[in-house]
Amino acid sequence: MFRKNTLKYLYEDLDELIRQYGSNRIDRFSFLSEIERLKQANEVILEGNEDFAELVENALLEKEYETLEQMAKTAIAKALSPTPSLKVLILSGAGISAESGVRTFRDSDGLWEEFDVMEVCSVEGFNRNPQLVADFYDARRHDLESKYPNRAHEMVARLKRTYPSQIDVLTQNVDDLFERAGCPDVIHLHGTLRDLRCETCQSVFEIGYKSQIGAICPVCHSSQIRHNVVMFGEEAPMYRQLQQSLDECDLFVVIGTSGQVLNVAWYAQWFEESLLNNLDPDENLDPYFKIVYHEKASEAADKIEAYIEKFLNGSPLIKDPETATL
Ligand SMILES: [Zn+2]
Repeated sequence: MFRKNTLKYLYEDLDELIRQYGSNRIDRFSFLSEIERLKQANEVILEGNEDFAELVENALLEKEYETLEQMAKTAIAKALSPTPSLKVLILSGAGISAESGVRTFRDSDGLWEEFDVMEVCSVEGFNRNPQLVADFYDARRHDLESKYPNRAHEMVARLKRTYPSQIDVLTQNVDDLFERAGCPDVIHLHGTLRDLRCETCQSVFEIGYKSQIGAICPVCHSSQIRHNVVMFGEEAPMYRQLQQSLDECDLFVVIGTSGQVLNVAWYAQWFEESLLNNLDPDENLDPYFKIVYHEKASEAADKIEAYIEKFLNGSPLIKDPETATL
């Protein structure tokens, strides 16, 4: 959203400049220095959008005013064209899988009651006692085998299959319930339970629901194997993907996350359209979203799906007065 809005503003600035110069309201020096400023902004903020750069170069060459104006108009129309380029980011957390019986960390009977989180989910704990961490993830993997996707996973999967290039599915969950619901291209921000990682060559390989005891890297045959879940104190490489999706998407949908790991309230502020579905109200989170559903993800699934489809098909979005908080 950020990138798209910025591009829109730059185009509008450029269009205005061309019109002012064309009608002799600004002199040549001001025109060229302002164009130079927009050129810099394109390089710094947009990392060099090629269409915009081309238009700026033409303006610097002081092509015919009418030609420039026409080019600017075409570019603005393209940048603002609604339907084909609309994108939706669906970001989910533990809440969406809790209904399927996958135990969460933060709920009242959550795993953190039973395990010391810093012992099983941090780099320090892992260095102290890797066996305890391996046992912990073996148990999680074993538990996962008997769990099934629910209607919310299925809804997201259906949308992703229907609009593959217009929907980004990102999750903080390490389970495979989206995949089992038939969802392609799921981005797991915090890793995946069904995979292991070789510490020697960094290959990631699937182990299914089995224990990691005795696992050997299929690539380099090392026995230095670990879980493929990001721990506290480690970099999460997929956060780059999150940033890209936040930049590109127009509607931000958040399902089942308290926002304690990722600051979804902060992200939501960049979006004109946003939807949050959590079981419990949260005064630090809810006000930042345009639409808020306080119910189980499987119960909200139909409404969320309808909202996203309406958005992608360019229909006017009607705020639900019963559930919207703003
Ligand atoms: Zn290896």
